[in-house]
Amino acid sequence: MDKIKNNILIIGSGPAGYTAAIYAARANLKPHLVSGLEPGGQLTITTDVENYPGFGDVIQGPWLMEEMKKQALNVGTVFHNDIVTSVNFESKPFIAKTESGKEFVSKSIIIATGAQARWLNIESESKFKGFGISACATCDGFFFKDQKVIVVGGGNSAVEEALFLTKFASKVILVHRRNSLRAEKILQERLFNNKKIEILWDNKVVEFIGEDNPNSLKQVLLENTKNGTKLKLDISGAFIAIGHDPATSLFKGKLNMDNENYIITKNDSTETSVKGVFAAGDVKDKIYRQAVTAAGMGCMAALEAEKYITENN
Ligand code: NAP
Repeated sequence: MDKIKNNILIIGSGPAGYTAAIYAARANLKPHLVSGLEPGGQLTITTDVENYPGFGDVIQGPWLMEEMKKQALNVGTVFHNDIVTSVNFESKPFIAKTESGKEFVSKSIIIATGAQARWLNIESESKFKGFGISACATCDGFFFKDQKVIVVGGGNSAVEEALFLTKFASKVILVHRRNSLRAEKILQERLFNNKKIEILWDNKVVEFIGEDNPNSLKQVLLENTKNGTKLKLDISGAFIAIGHDPATSLFKGKLNMDNENYIITKNDSTETSVKGVFAAGDVKDKIYRQAVTAAGMGCMAALEAEKYITENN
C-alpha cells in the first residue's frame, strides 16, 4: 500500500474542494486532493454560468472547474484521480484509504464531497441536461426569459424554484405526482396566489422531447398517475426539484449529521464533530447550494485547518 503522510487531505473536487486546496497550498501546507467520482462536481454538468463573480461574460461550468483545478495545481496541490473508500477519524493522524490502494495519513481532513441533485432518471432526461433541463433555477432561470417552463416536484425546493422562475418565464407549470404538496404552507400560499403559475396535480414526466444537434428541449410528455391520461406540453425548460442527496455515506456514524445526512458544523465555522475534520460546500449546506458559497466555505475550511494544525503540532 502506498502510504502518503500529509498535512491536509481534501476529499472532493467541486468549488469547495478546489478553493480549500488553493488556500491550503498557498499556506505552504502541500495539500493532497482526492477528486472523487465526478471530478469538478455539479458545475461540470451545467453549461452557461453567469453568477460566479469575476467574469463579465458568460462562462461555461466545466471551463470554470478546469480553471479552478489549474489554479489549485499551480500553487502546489497534489492531485489524485481516485476515490476515498474508507476513513478513520479515531486515529491521530487520521487515515483515509482509496480505491487504488493509497493510504493517506493526514493531520487534518477537509470534506468537500458535495451533493447530487436527484434526477428522474429517464432516458430522455440525460439528453437535454444543460440543454433545457436543469436542477437549479437560481443558476439557469435567467435563460428562460418569456418562455414556458415546468418544475417537477412538490417540496420546498420545487415551490421556491417555481416562484423564482416567475421572474423570468412567461409561464411556470408545477408538475407534481400527487395531489398535495409537502412544501411549507406559506410557500404554498405564495404559489397558489401567483398568476404565472399553474399546477398539474397527479402527473409524472414520461419523456422529454426535443431537437438534436444542437440538443434543445421542446416538449414534455406527462402521464396522469391516477388515470393514465397522457398530456403533451410545449416547453422550453424543465427544472427538476425532487431533492438532493449529500455524499456522506462514507462518514455515517463517524461525524454528526442531520436527519437528511448533511454534515453538521459549528456556527460560522466548518468544524465538524471531530476536531481536525472540516466540511465545506453542499455536503453541509442545504440552503444556499451555490458555487460561490461553496468556494467561500472551502476557503474557511482551509484557514481553520491551518489554525488547527498550527495549534496541535
Ligand atoms: P423534498 O422535501 O424531499 O421534496 C421532494 C419532492 O419531490 C417531493 O414532493 C416528492 O414527491 C418529489 N419527488 C421525489 N422523487 C420524485 C420522483 N422520482 N418523481 C417525481 N417527484 C418526486 O426535497 P426538497 O424540496 O429539495 O427539500 C429538501 C430539504 O431541504 C427539505 O427539508 C426542505 O424543507 C429543505 N429546504 C428548505 C428550504 C427553505 O427552508 N426555504 C428551501 C429548499 C429546501 P412526494 O411529495 O410525492 O414524495
